[in-house]
Amino acid sequence: MLAPKYFLYLAESDEGRFRVSLSSNPRIDAYFLAEEGFTALQIIKPPLPLYLAEWVLEQLSTPGLKLKSGLFFRMVKRAVQTIQPHRILPPVKLSLAELRPESLDFPDLTGLLQGRILLGTELPELIAAKGLEVPWNPEDWMQYLYFHSRVRREAAVSVDRLGLPFCRRCGATTGILEDDCYFCGNSRCYTCPHCRSMGVAKSCLPLYSQPRSEEPVAEEAILPHFDFELTPPQKRASSALEQFLDGGERQFLVWAVCGGGKTEVSFGAVAKVLSAGGRVLFAVPRKDVVQELEPRFQKAFPAQTLVALYGGSGGRYEESSLVLATTHQCLRFYQAFDLIILDEEDAFPYFGSEMLHFAVRRALKPQGKLVMMTATPDRELRARAARGEIPVVEIPARPHRRPLIVPQILRTALNPVGRKDWQPPPFLREKLEALHSNGRKLLVFLPTVREVEQFGRALCDWAQSRTLKGKYVHARTPGRLEAKAALLDGAHDFLVVSTVFERGITIPNLDVVVLNADDEAIFDCRTLVQIAGRVGRMGEAAQVCFAGKRQSRAMHEAVTWISRMNEAGYQLGFLDESS
Ligand SMILES: [Zn+2]
Ligand SMILES: [Zn+2]
Repeated sequence: MLAPKYFLYLAESDEGRFRVSLSSNPRIDAYFLAEEGFTALQIIKPPLPLYLAEWVLEQLSTPGLKLKSGLFFRMVKRAVQTIQPHRILPPVKLSLAELRPESLDFPDLTGLLQGRILLGTELPELIAAKGLEVPWNPEDWMQYLYFHSRVRREAAVSVDRLGLPFCRRCGATTGILEDDCYFCGNSRCYTCPHCRSMGVAKSCLPLYSQPRSEEPVAEEAILPHFDFELTPPQKRASSALEQFLDGGERQFLVWAVCGGGKTEVSFGAVAKVLSAGGRVLFAVPRKDVVQELEPRFQKAFPAQTLVALYGGSGGRYEESSLVLATTHQCLRFYQAFDLIILDEEDAFPYFGSEMLHFAVRRALKPQGKLVMMTATPDRELRARAARGEIPVVEIPARPHRRPLIVPQILRTALNPVGRKDWQPPPFLREKLEALHSNGRKLLVFLPTVREVEQFGRALCDWAQSRTLKGKYVHARTPGRLEAKAALLDGAHDFLVVSTVFERGITIPNLDVVVLNADDEAIFDCRTLVQIAGRVGRMGEAAQVCFAGKRQSRAMHEAVTWISRMNEAGYQLGFLDESS
């Protein structure tokens, strides 16, 4: 069995003081309890898996409750049975004199966790990274820190008041698995499948956390180094961000158009916090974005040690005031940063966004500040901004000063596939045939994998008979990257894709068509805005078309959203009137 188990105990002194706690090694507690004048321990056997032990401890921690030994046992027994049938033996009374070791020796563990939240299983690596010799049982060090309230220890997966399991590491409340456990030997143990890639979180495994406690000390002023000039909308956003740092607000929204260049607007604020001796986390959803941002940050802050964390990056426990990290890596920080910038990039409203927000909130110091940067804030965030509950600055224009392309909405149905003389709808036929001569590329979006396959195949066959080259790709198609490259270098004229294709793609002279765009389960307003944001990135003219059997609310919202951004751009003088 690999999971530590925890003894519940009642410590008593001759003058009637008592203390209830739990310990993976009661000898360690005995040593310090004796120093505090306690004389005996009543220990419950057998030791329990952590989530059960902490549940019982919580039930016993009623203020003012006088825990005489008989009551202690009855309450423990009752609390255990409410969660899980477990055989509990009457407590054994031991004198501290016989239990305590003669001496105990721990190294200086003050800064061990500082701003981290880690599973017990991650401790050996942390300890080694701190240059300490990994002890035979790191859990003993943790018991020592826990006894003195210097770390927080909780079961990585626990149950709420309704008895429903949730993951403390990643915040998941659904999909937690219950199974026979190899770690604790229990037939009912909970496991979180969502954060598994970071090491398994279970209800019998401890999760340790400690806020970062040291006060920031002002350093030499740091200025970001730019080898380009910020555009006027970027400058405006950048100074709004710096002002936000001086004010009393805790959160700030940077609402930028796709391709508006929002990353750089944070550099001034980052420099300001670093100069004051503070710590900054730049959080993004994906590994490739961290890798892409790392050299840009290094260039802007050449004198700064920078830690970039993503799956397989190494350097997990390196200390730095400036950290770039993916969602999952953010899950290892606890009240560690004075400023966190959450950059959703031009990603789709992606899976895992809730986890990222959870991780980021926890990684922030209690007085820290959070900046959210996104092209497509969700409904709740937009409503908060509209009510004035969160300050917001918009970057309504791209550096090239051309407006965003406003999508056209078309009502048209697709012919069912299967007939030999299948034809795409007339507007699409026209667009495809024009590709012969106009030097443009076309991306055709469809909502589901099945539709991509059905209509993609039909469309490619139809196009081939007209000497046009196309391909259909979706999440499960191998060679997606090659298809993207083929579109970019002209080997393909068009691609039929699902939304997965969306990520991180800038193709010049691109037009976009969204078919069955009225499928609101897939094409919600934010997704449509992101898709429309793929065109005109270099300032060139382009077309976006949302086509569906009906006009959905999301289509209209997306068009209104984009038009409103353009209006703001014109009003602020960030866009040139078309000549
Ligand atoms: Zn989890
Ligand atoms: Zn277990």
